[in-house]
Amino acid sequence: MIIFVDMDEVIADSYGHFIRLYNQEFNASLQMKNIHFGEAWQNVPEEHQSRVKEYHWEPGFFSDLDPLPGSQEVLEEIATIHDVYIATAATQFPNSLREKSDWLDHYFPFIHWRNRILCGDKSILKGDVLIDDRSYNLESFEGRSIMFASPHNNGSNSYEKVSSWYQLKDLFLK
Ligand SMILES: [Mg+2]
Repeated sequence: MIIFVDMDEVIADSYGHFIRLYNQEFNASLQMKNIHFGEAWQNVPEEHQSRVKEYHWEPGFFSDLDPLPGSQEVLEEIATIHDVYIATAATQFPNSLREKSDWLDHYFPFIHWRNRILCGDKSILKGDVLIDDRSYNLESFEGRSIMFASPHNNGSNSYEKVSSWYQLKDLFLK
């Protein structure tokens, strides 16, 4: 199978990084475990929201993300059986192109550069499976669309949904 895997909020913890940067800048103590809905910026006081929306435009934002738990080992195993491509919207944030490529070299070196699609619009993708956290990417995909859970898509039940890489392991390695 050809499997496309998104980066932000699927293998890269961008939500957690928004929270970390917010806590550093505003000396706050927001925690992921207490956040259940919405975008990161929607979980901070209104007077700080416009500032938080700027974070992913800043150089280094996409370099400093942690891999999500299980993503490295499970994806490496899936990639031995299936054709795995990382498919990530990168042209919206031009800094992110280089940062995302370097980040993949560091954390996902088994994903060859030929298997990295840093794109604008994912509706061009043709394959068997797309794993993504955004419904606007999943809705145009003609294969099997799998939504990776994030606070911002809580309540969205239009797609097959997983909340961890351990669930994906069960889906693709059993
Ligand atoms: Mg994403």
